[in-house]
Amino acid sequence: RAKTGNRGEYSFYTRDMAVDIRERVRLLQALRHAIERQRLFLVYQPQLELGSGKVCGIEALLRWRTEDGQLIPPDRFIPIAEHSGMIVKIGDWVMRMACFQQAELARHGFGQLRVGINVSVIQLRHPRFLSSLSMALSDSGADPGFVELEVTESVAMEEADFISRMLDQIKALGVRIALDDFGTGFSSLSYLQRLNIDRLKIDRAFINDICSQDRARRIPELVIQLGQKLGFSVIAEGVELQEQVDALKSMGCDEAQGYFYARPMEVPMLIEWLSARKA
Ligand code: C2E
Ligand code: MG
Ligand code: MG
Ligand code: MG
Repeated sequence: RAKTGNRGEYSFYTRDMAVDIRERVRLLQALRHAIERQRLFLVYQPQLELGSGKVCGIEALLRWRTEDGQLIPPDRFIPIAEHSGMIVKIGDWVMRMACFQQAELARHGFGQLRVGINVSVIQLRHPRFLSSLSMALSDSGADPGFVELEVTESVAMEEADFISRMLDQIKALGVRIALDDFGTGFSSLSYLQRLNIDRLKIDRAFINDICSQDRARRIPELVIQLGQKLGFSVIAEGVELQEQVDALKSMGCDEAQGYFYARPMEVPMLIEWLSARKA
């Protein structure tokens, strides 16, 4: 099964298969070095309350800079890291770093910002996940109420009972939970109702043509209403245009995140950005 350029499209391996596998092995080896040589880092993208325009959170996004300065996007190496199990180690590092940086932001007077951390289901299945999370919290001194784990919807649907019990235990630590990429998976409504989550993140795909076509507005509109009826707040990701902001506002969406407001930034630049907004 080989993924082609387009979402959800698959083609059969032919001659390219060997090349592809060799490429994956090469990338995996390079990733192993990257961890040892601390070539991974986090960037943060602001999340804003649509009503007040206030910054209320940030999402941590993983980056890998190779020795020759090339930036490799997570979509290229996270799947490989998941497949090899290396995501457990990487994910632990991400959780710790994000918690420490949350505490650092608090020292700069930005303690009221929630930090969103993407978590893979492979991590959730690992027996030491909860202790890694609570250690990251206690070692860093980050406020659990301002830490939010992002779990993708498709992933949350597998092993429904296990995941829902896991989320309960995460919530018991005081940490928040968001269902990421919502709308791209197939959550049953009864399952959604049962999940102990705080909010839904509407996938970027639904935001893209929210202005261009009347029909395209119906799904995000419904998701916002559904989420809020179930007691979740709703955030739209991938907002790039003023018209999308206006449309989401009129639909009563709670928060938004996207290039329209800011691209993901490293901490020093984020602090500058936040300070400039405050002034
Ligand atoms: P995601 O969690 O859904 O993150 C949102 C992605 O949308 C990010 O891509 C972000 O940079 C991008 N984005 C934000 N605003 C806009 C916009 O206005 N327009 C466009 N075109 N894109 C926008 P990124 O950073 O490349 O991350 C891709 C995915 O990789 C993430 O999707 C997440 O699933 C995964 N990922 C990133 N960091 C981590 C991590 O630390 N751990 C794990 N397990 N997965 C991660
Ligand atoms: Mg996310
Ligand atoms: Mg997402
Ligand atoms: Mg995504």
